[in-house]
Amino acid sequence: MNIGLFGGTFDPVHKGHVALARAALEQCKLHRIYFVPANIPPHKQRRPLSPYVHRYAMLALATAQEKVFVPSLLEAPVEEEGGARKPRQEKPNYTIDTVRRLKSSFKASDKLFLLIGMDAFADIAKWHQAEALFGECEFIVAGRPGYSLADVANALPEKLRPRPEVTRPFHKQPATGDLVLPGATIHLLGDLRQPASATAIREAAAAGKPLGRFVDPLIAEYIQKTGLYK
Ligand code: ATP
Repeated sequence: MNIGLFGGTFDPVHKGHVALARAALEQCKLHRIYFVPANIPPHKQRRPLSPYVHRYAMLALATAQEKVFVPSLLEAPVEEEGGARKPRQEKPNYTIDTVRRLKSSFKASDKLFLLIGMDAFADIAKWHQAEALFGECEFIVAGRPGYSLADVANALPEKLRPRPEVTRPFHKQPATGDLVLPGATIHLLGDLRQPASATAIREAAAAGKPLGRFVDPLIAEYIQKTGLYK
């Protein structure tokens, strides 16, 4: 099976995330996609995140209607004996660890694809064991307006990055198609034209504005009922 892993903070999950997953499903013939909310994301510790349980609950709602979208507890807070949680002492969820844990349950014929948006991919070289991550799975990257194939290639960890003379013609090419390099395979979804942003959604919710344009009605209702971003 071709299996997708889609990680993020999902605070909240929105139509942009679902569009990315649907496009990946079709273009790369995936059989299942795990949506993995991070308990402690290594790269987003500037603002306090909503509690994990809320982010997971919204993901469960967003994935309920699609058989092959699976909400995953792979990066859930670790429960101490007796059920007590100690979030401050927990370490960040590194994608390489999650990928290896998921792959340990794979059959030999299973193949893993990591789903990611271009804005997050732009920082991929700074991720923990970035180079090893490209060895463990293929990437599916959703473009954002203004990004070219050169931006994708230049974002790669140094050892995998093609030389500048190779990527120069890439500047004029949109981020679509497949980029197959020694040590890295990247499938590009192009721009999904989904302007939803979790930051904008949290701001709209705080201001009591309607959220229906950017999130599923069930999620809008959940946010309203729980007063999550007030
Ligand atoms: P925030 O505004 O809180 O940073 P975010 O949606 O960008 O929210 P995450 O929930 O961590 O942050 O995103 C998970 C993944 O979804 C990332 O790889 C990100 O690039 C991608 N993504 C986010 N929004 C969109 C969108 N509108 N279209 C396509 N991909 C997106």
